[in-house]
Amino acid sequence: MNEPEDPGGTPKRSKILRKRGVKECGPEAGGGEDVFIPFFKPGYLRLYPEHCTNTDFKVFVESQDQQIKLGNKSPVYLNHIFTSDVKGVVALHRVNANKIAVVFKQYNTANNFITNTDFLTKHNLKAHIPAAQIEKTGIIRYVPTNISNKELYTKLSSIYEIISVRRFTKKVGQSTVGLETVSITFLSNVLPDNIQYDLFSFRVFEYVPPLQQCFRCFKFNHPAKICNGKQRCSICAGEHNFRDCDKKENLCCVNCSGPHLAISKSCPIKMKKILEKKGNITYASVANTITTSDFPSLPTQSSSIVKTLPSTSQNVHKLNKNVKIVNNVNKTVPEPNLNQTQLKTQIVNNKNILMAMVQTLVELGNKTDNEPVTSLFIKDLLLKNLSH
Ligand SMILES: [Zn+2]
Ligand SMILES: [Zn+2]
Ligand SMILES: [Zn+2]
Repeated sequence: MNEPEDPGGTPKRSKILRKRGVKECGPEAGGGEDVFIPFFKPGYLRLYPEHCTNTDFKVFVESQDQQIKLGNKSPVYLNHIFTSDVKGVVALHRVNANKIAVVFKQYNTANNFITNTDFLTKHNLKAHIPAAQIEKTGIIRYVPTNISNKELYTKLSSIYEIISVRRFTKKVGQSTVGLETVSITFLSNVLPDNIQYDLFSFRVFEYVPPLQQCFRCFKFNHPAKICNGKQRCSICAGEHNFRDCDKKENLCCVNCSGPHLAISKSCPIKMKKILEKKGNITYASVANTITTSDFPSLPTQSSSIVKTLPSTSQNVHKLNKNVKIVNNVNKTVPEPNLNQTQLKTQIVNNKNILMAMVQTLVELGNKTDNEPVTSLFIKDLLLKNLSH
């Protein structure tokens, strides 16, 4: 594969190149894995396109020196340098300890700030446009693994410009194996429904990035680099590094106090965060296209499930309420002939149902009393969470 030209220091790419450098110098470097290196549009530098629909134009700025925390600098100092030396700035925000956002009202002043490096060099700063402002990544599935990223980049066409192609891979022993899923980044805030490979059309799905867990405090959605929390132990939840842990037998999760490592995928809090992340994106992407008529009443087997609930007076009350609702709907909407798969899809596409299921899982995971977990118990709990 030919090396794409230097795109001018796009942060994402330079990170990947660094990783690649390490890999190639290492003793385990294997041949033939170049096809999996993400392919970027040659010469790509992330700039705001002329016709982009943003209402403001953000640029992230940080120091070249990792020790200098630009986000913690005095607002007086930041106001001073950004009003006297830069044109078109309308606002400054702190993003995190290292980073600030400089907001421009026009796309070209934002772009000029990045391409005209005098100011950045003078203050030893680096700047980039956050990817989420102008790019959107989706995935396509069932892409034969013998097609390289570069070939895909060359052959794929879409209503939005494609700026990178990256096949997902997994490690098998010492070698990297390509998977049939490929992520495509578009120069657009929205995804196209499909992209074309010659005549063949691939459906484009939303990409859900993996849940980020901090390796300092073990909370979620921020990296250790910018963590404001205390160092915690992933084994016993104490305030020390796991390497210094002297309670390795007493597993205690920082997030839920359960008997597992803080990074464990069996943690109910982590499970909930992962599902929330997936749920939010799935919900957001379908919410605009689904109307209430897409959620017809449940077929008759649902009432038989409800009927098996224990008949405490509270449940009977709830049950009656639910049956009443179902009956009312049945009067006005003819019952469609749904198959099981359609029914399941409709259930998981409903955010309230999904969240009630997650809540139920979390409560079951955290259950400490000795009451047996029967299917009746689970149904009762689920019904309780659905009525919230
Ligand atoms: Zn943290
Ligand atoms: Zn510990
Ligand atoms: Zn946990």
